Amino acid sequence: MKNIILIAPPAAGKGTQSNLLCEKYNLVHISVGDLLRIELQKDGEISQYLKQQMESGNLVKDEIIIEIIKNRLNNVDCKNGFILDGFPRTIRQAEMLDKMNIIINNVFYINVDKETAKNRIVGRISCPKCGSVYNTEIEESIPKVSNVCDRCGSLLQKREDDNELVFENRYNTYVNETQPIIDFYKNKNVLCEIKNLSKMETFNEIQKVLNGDLW
Ligand code: AMP
Repeated sequence: MKNIILIAPPAAGKGTQSNLLCEKYNLVHISVGDLLRIELQKDGEISQYLKQQMESGNLVKDEIIIEIIKNRLNNVDCKNGFILDGFPRTIRQAEMLDKMNIIINNVFYINVDKETAKNRIVGRISCPKCGSVYNTEIEESIPKVSNVCDRCGSLLQKREDDNELVFENRYNTYVNETQPIIDFYKNKNVLCEIKNLSKMETFNEIQKVLNGDLW
């Protein structure tokens, strides 16, 4: 059983690595962004608020996120291991997770520089149904059939927040709010940094750690 956290700037490949890891290690993928995108389809004040925050690249209030995560982690399917993609994103969220007394085995910090992440935004398209992520500008990430998800056959979409303007705010939010949690997990001796590698190189490094070759 492995419980894993992925920390990375926007568009650094958290979703892609999560999908590869889930297939290889039979883990549950918990993408907070995907859970929020389901919530914002519903009518009401909360969905208006979520839309506003997400489309502008700001974080959603910790209280809402913590509620969503608590419910999701209580689900029985998490017992065999999970990947947290996009959580925690603030020190307060990390502290709350700590209080839940759930063992976190590995935290991978996928460190991609700002320019690379920004360039990836341009070609990124994702599956609204299963959350798979593709990139029309990166050879190894192009879908087999144009605009169709390899995994579930749904039509791929460009996310509202995947544009250069919103990227700037998402990146600044990441630096100010999320980067401090890197030290939080460093101090717990569970953090492994992977710097500026391609999709498959990153996946290989993660596998080495999970298989016990490094560490
Ligand atoms: P993502 O799909 O991970 O890129 O997340 C998309 C958007 O959802 C972010 O820009 C935030 O507005 C919101 N979001 C996702 N995860 C969190 C979180 N842990 N805390 C606060 N807001 C979040």
